[in-house]
Amino acid sequence: MERTFAIIKPDAVKKGVTGQILARIEAAGFRLCGMRMIHMSKAEAEGFYYVHKARPFFGGLTDFMSSGPCVVMCLEAPDAIKKWRDLMGATDPAKAEPGTLRKDFGASIDNNATHGSDAPETAAFELGYFFRGMEL
Ligand code: ATP
Ligand code: MG
Repeated sequence: MERTFAIIKPDAVKKGVTGQILARIEAAGFRLCGMRMIHMSKAEAEGFYYVHKARPFFGGLTDFMSSGPCVVMCLEAPDAIKKWRDLMGATDPAKAEPGTLRKDFGASIDNNATHGSDAPETAAFELGYFFRGMEL
């Protein structure tokens, strides 16, 4: 079993598709081991995405992630990190495969509905950033 960290981003929550995304997560066979709705401050979003701090889109990305509530989750499954990124699809919804969450619910590369950790080390950091051990 593996655990990964996932977010239903502010654009998807605002659009009212949180329930549909949760249903797709459960239908795909993930176990939800932790979940909370939060509204990140700008500083909290900057801390979360610090690996991208030198990128030109960092300001816009952290404005977006702090623009409204989002849903943070711990997902468990065999090979959960890859399995969740496959279900999300490509970063840019225009390039995402049919049937993926970003294809179905994302609007653009900066409003792409969901987040997922990209490696075991980032999953550990990201889960620890949002959840205390006893919550999982
Ligand atoms: P995420 O980390 O959100 O799951 P990802 O791992 O597919 O997405 P990253 O390269 O980590 O993609 O980029 C983080 C986020 O930054 C993306 O989800 C996207 O919203 C935004 N982003 C990435 N590249 C660009 C870009 N060229 N222009 C605008 N926004 C971008
Ligand atoms: Mg990423």
